[in-house]
Amino acid sequence: MLAGKIAFVTGAGGGIGRATCQLLAKANAKIIASDCNVTSAKETIGILEGNGHMAIRIDVSNGKEVNDAFNNIIENYHTPPSIIVNAAGIIRDNFLLNLTEEDFDKVLNVNLKGTFLITQKACQHLVDAGKPGSIVNISSIVGKRGNRGQCNYASSKAAVETFSKSVAQEMARYNIRCNTVLPGFISTSMTEGVPDKVKDMFHSLIPLKRFGKPEEVAEVIKFLSSDASSYVTGTSIFVSGGLE
Ligand code: NAD
Repeated sequence: MLAGKIAFVTGAGGGIGRATCQLLAKANAKIIASDCNVTSAKETIGILEGNGHMAIRIDVSNGKEVNDAFNNIIENYHTPPSIIVNAAGIIRDNFLLNLTEEDFDKVLNVNLKGTFLITQKACQHLVDAGKPGSIVNISSIVGKRGNRGQCNYASSKAAVETFSKSVAQEMARYNIRCNTVLPGFISTSMTEGVPDKVKDMFHSLIPLKRFGKPEEVAEVIKFLSSDASSYVTGTSIFVSGGLE
């Protein structure tokens, strides 16, 4: 299904990023697994089917590292990746009255600016090479509904969605699509530390009455990455068990 395609996945050492790498590799894509924690990206590469994959360390919020990484990829594969999945993300939760400027900036820098830097660099290379592509960005249901203790994270995720819609409009003429996935509460290291009280609150609100698995998000990312979604751009898909 994805034979001959190169997929670049950020946050590839984390729950959703790793599950995405696994599913795309199973569909015969070559995977570039990137993470600021390169050990976890290498672990991801180690469990993938097929060959021709590589792990790289990038802090997505650092423009120079992003630039160098793309040069390194093109040197290795002689073509830019045509599938980009921006799955790197962080939380630094606190209530508004206690939230520090540092934690506000950090979350916006990784979640929003990181998505911008990777998307821009990928698009520049695709346009130069005259190749089509598909970009999948990860927002969150809290980017729609807000959440107590997450005004930094929620606003970063709302911005990721409108960023993606704008990119879709600009890049359509180059046959580069850009869509957003909005996961609900997914069991990964990001949600591991959520207090039981908050987990119970979310659980009670989810119509399907369970938390999601990273593989369930990866299935939708695979759809948006592939030609099965060739007429889909600028849209957002909830993967949230019905919670909006
Ligand atoms: P995770 O913590 O398991 O994975 C996130 C990965 O991003 C980690 O491997 C981490 O090392 C990496 N990362 C963090 N900062 C980085 C940086 N500056 N540069 C490069 N990599 C960096 O979390 P996850 O649940 O797999 O989250 C994946 C994406 O899905 C995130 O954008 C997250 O906000 C989003 N999301 C998750 C949930 C959920 O319930 N788990 C819900 C909605 C959205």
